Amino acid sequence: MIVMDLEWNRGYDSKPIDEILQIGAVRTDESGAIRDTFSVFVSPAIHKKFDRGARGLPDLEDSKSSDISFPEAWGMFEAWRGEDNEYAFWGVGDFEAVRQNCAYYGLCFTEPSAVYDYQSAFSHALGQGGQQAALWRVIDYLGVPDVFTYHNALNDAMYTALVGSWLGEAAKYIKPESDDPKRKREKFCTEPYTAAKGKRVGPFASTEDCLNSRVARSPACPVCGKSFWIRQWHTTDSVRFFGTGSCPDHGKFIARLTIDPETLLGRLAVPELDPTAIYEYRRVCRRGTTHVCASLHKGGRRRFARRRRAG
Ligand SMILES: [Zn+2]
Repeated sequence: MIVMDLEWNRGYDSKPIDEILQIGAVRTDESGAIRDTFSVFVSPAIHKKFDRGARGLPDLEDSKSSDISFPEAWGMFEAWRGEDNEYAFWGVGDFEAVRQNCAYYGLCFTEPSAVYDYQSAFSHALGQGGQQAALWRVIDYLGVPDVFTYHNALNDAMYTALVGSWLGEAAKYIKPESDDPKRKREKFCTEPYTAAKGKRVGPFASTEDCLNSRVARSPACPVCGKSFWIRQWHTTDSVRFFGTGSCPDHGKFIARLTIDPETLLGRLAVPELDPTAIYEYRRVCRRGTTHVCASLHKGGRRRFARRRRAG
C-alpha cells in the first residue's frame, strides 16, 4: 500500500489547480507497518502567489528552493512506487490534486487498483458517519506522540499510515454509494438555470450577525424560487462565504455570501453550478474556516470552529 500525502498551493489566480509543492509517501506492508518512505519538494511553476494555507507550510522554503519540476518529481515517485498500485490518503482532496497536476502537465497517470480514504474509514470505525476529523485530532485521540511537524507531506503520510495500521482491516472501508432516491437532494442540481443577480442583505451589526441572519441563510432555488436553508458557511478570507443548501425538488445549490467588512452589507447569490464553482466551493471547504450558524430556536447557540487542513 502506498500511503500518500501532498502539500499544495491554490494561489489566487483563475487557474483552477492545486499546485503540488511536496509529494510525501510511505509504503506499508500487510500488517500496516511502514517499510519505506519517499519525499520530494517541487519547485512552484503555476501560481504566482501562495495562498494562506501554503504560506503556513512549515517547509515552504524547501519547495521554493527546489529545482525539481512536477514532471520530474512525479517520475521519481513513479520509479519509487514500482508495482504497488493501491493508494491510501487522508480525505479525498489529495487524490484529486494528483489527477489535476498530472493532467496539467499531460503526464500519464496509472489508474490505481484501489484508493482508500483513511479519514472516512476512521470516522466509520468510530460510528461517526459524516464527521471528518482532522489528522492531528485523530493522532491526538489515538495517543500517538506527535513528534513530527504537521503539513509536511512525508510526516502527514506517516501519521496517516499509523492511523491505517491502527484501523487494521477497517482501513479498507469504502463508503457505499447511496441509491436512495431521497438522496437526490444531496446531489448538485443538474437542471439548467440562469443565475440571478445577487440580492442585498443587511447591513448588520457584525459579520457574525450577517452569517446567522435568517435572510442571508435562506436563498431561493434558482429553478423554482422556493427558499432553502444554509446551516454553515465556509471561508478562506472572511469576506466571501460559501454554503450549500437543497431544494427538495431540484437538489443542492451553492450559496455565496459576500460581506463588505466596512459597511457590513451582504450580497447573497446562487451562482451557476459549473465545474469551477463546485471546485471553488470544495476547495474553500477543505482549506477554510467553518462558521456553524447559530440556531434560531435554541437561544442563539454559537460555535466558531477553526478547521485545520487535514493534509
Ligand atoms: Zn427548486
